[in-house]
Amino acid sequence: MSTSSRPRLVAALAAVSLVAACSEGGGTGSGGGYPDRNITIVVPFSAGGPTDTVTRLIAEPMAKALGGQIVVKNVEGAGGTVAAGQVAQDKPDGYTVLMHHIGMSTAPALYKNLPYKPLEDFATIGLVTEVPMTVVARKDFPPATLADLTAYVKANAAKVTLANAGIGAASHLCGLLFQSATGVKLQEVPYQGTGPALTDLVGGQVDFMCDQTTNTSGQISAGKVKAYAVTTPERVESLPDVPTTTEATGGPRCGWAPATSRC
Ligand code: ASP
Repeated sequence: MSTSSRPRLVAALAAVSLVAACSEGGGTGSGGGYPDRNITIVVPFSAGGPTDTVTRLIAEPMAKALGGQIVVKNVEGAGGTVAAGQVAQDKPDGYTVLMHHIGMSTAPALYKNLPYKPLEDFATIGLVTEVPMTVVARKDFPPATLADLTAYVKANAAKVTLANAGIGAASHLCGLLFQSATGVKLQEVPYQGTGPALTDLVGGQVDFMCDQTTNTSGQISAGKVKAYAVTTPERVESLPDVPTTTEATGGPRCGWAPATSRC
């Protein structure tokens, strides 16, 4: 493929996929082999979170396979839409790739003015992974189970805080589903990614959140946070004691079914 036809690329997490900016037929015409310089993968959330972790895991083998260098760059803000807007404006030459997530498809419904057109500005390279979500709380948060959590938020809505990685992030969508299923409006605390949100959860600055196992399983196993449920249809192998949302809400139907559930 010539550099002229290389699009802006996107990848997404929970699910994460790689995308790149689309070319309208013009080209950079470097003429050399690809890559002949560094490729940048833009992560739309903070360092240390799930999207960042997955990107850094694949960057090295990808660079080896392509025979070039890959630079990972974090561009935070507005649930990943700042990064997507920047990549959309970038030269569509295949050297700037966006690692995106489920928010790529939900942002148009949640933002009035997006700095990009999701379907026109990008070409998808491929799905990188799908990661289970967990519902986790600070370890001294009173509710012991998901059913207790539901009762607790109904009784204490005004003081319960729910962290997320910004509007449209998987953590935000999962929190919206929880609020819609329980009929309770909570105080949402947006972060630039769930990396810093989880740090605050461990430190007790926020009460609970949804986040991918990439970020949470180590902290759950170490007893640093309390886990209420995984949102997948089956339990997750690395967290055998954590029930699914279906089990935790008494099944057979999901009491609330975050994005990755298939109820
Ligand atoms: N993927 C995370 C979320 O669901 C954000 C992050 O990767 O930091 O909100």
